[in-house]
Amino acid sequence: MTSILLRGRTLSFLRWPETIDDHAAWRYEGDGGLLIRDGRIVAAGAYAEVEKQAGQGVEEIDHRPHLLLPGFIDAHAHFPQMQVIASYGAELLDWLNTYTFPEETKFRNAQHGRRIARLFLDEMVRHGTTTVAAYCSVHKASAEAFFAESHHRNMLNIAGKVMMDRNAPEGVLDTPQSGYDDSKALIEEWHGKGRQLYAITPRFAITSSPEQLEMAGALCREHPDLHMQTHLSENHAEIAFTRELYPQLRDYTDVYEHYGLLGKRSLLGHCIHLSEREADAISDAGSIAVFCPTSNLFLGSGLFDYQRFRSRDKALRIAAATDVGGGTNYSMLRTMDEGYKVIALNGEKLNPFQSFWQLTRGNAEALSVVEKVGTLDLDTDADIVVLDARATPAMRLRMETIETLAEELFLLQTLGDDRAVREVYVAGRAAKSDMAT
Ligand SMILES: [Zn+2]
Repeated sequence: MTSILLRGRTLSFLRWPETIDDHAAWRYEGDGGLLIRDGRIVAAGAYAEVEKQAGQGVEEIDHRPHLLLPGFIDAHAHFPQMQVIASYGAELLDWLNTYTFPEETKFRNAQHGRRIARLFLDEMVRHGTTTVAAYCSVHKASAEAFFAESHHRNMLNIAGKVMMDRNAPEGVLDTPQSGYDDSKALIEEWHGKGRQLYAITPRFAITSSPEQLEMAGALCREHPDLHMQTHLSENHAEIAFTRELYPQLRDYTDVYEHYGLLGKRSLLGHCIHLSEREADAISDAGSIAVFCPTSNLFLGSGLFDYQRFRSRDKALRIAAATDVGGGTNYSMLRTMDEGYKVIALNGEKLNPFQSFWQLTRGNAEALSVVEKVGTLDLDTDADIVVLDARATPAMRLRMETIETLAEELFLLQTLGDDRAVREVYVAGRAAKSDMAT
């Protein structure tokens, strides 16, 4: 048995913090300890107490004065888009046709997929993200590359081969049957292997024929424990085109409803321009609206109405995500900084505790993985991020005037990025200091 004892200031959430003073919503230890055995947290609390349980010969790693939090979770990203990020001058549909689809054709080549999967998960770890819900390309080999790399690192990741059979170049199309068969084979091979989870992944309504959405719905019925991920209501031109393609259905959300794709593990990227009927339907189904602020700003898609979705009578479950490569940063700290601004433009504020809840426990609940990750609870997997609020000269200077934990978290969110991530543990293994670069 491998055991390590981590020491530092520990912070983990018990529930959504209603206000900035809602202390019962989180657990904070100014001198905390985490005892990890075989990749799981077996003791947590005040260092003096945890240390007693550690016993002789346990390696101790002292991270004081840094913060130890559950590793960040990114609920929506596209691993084949690392060389699409920072593409100039387009809205969603042009951006897909001009940059993204041509780039994703390269993932026919398994070697390319393996290289990018490795570099993508390096970026996740570098930025403190220990779980990501990832879209692969349409090619089965891209999902194999992603899962092999993720499994090798023992990360808990959710991913799926994109299903798309129309309105895109030949090199990124499957067929209803091949999309079903490839997904099925990948589920058999990877779902539940180590920490890997499969997500049925029809890209979005525009690139799937009704026949393909039927097949995606069949996969959801056959595998009710799987996630389903897709895009919904991101951009006005996208919505209009979807309405043309599915004129008999009530609205965009109804496309996914009609084919049986809305459930409690359905991750719906964007959800910006929803009608009240659509929001009600998503709430009734228990599906998750995924907030991708850097992407929504970059592509000029619109402002996600976070606080209204949370507080409406039929509230929505919400996750937050980078949406790389429409998104502009791999960092969940940068993502929540932009998220704060989007919410401010809607006339509301997200306080720092709510923000860090969202990055950790909130996203874990939204992804239905909170029994395993997203907290520092006993018997969960030891996925942990170590944060340094004095990581840069500007942060160090600002820290001179900071007095509270809330202020420190807000500084980390506002000025922090991968430099503020001192270490990352993946199932108890130091993963950031382990990386080649
Ligand atoms: Zn996306």
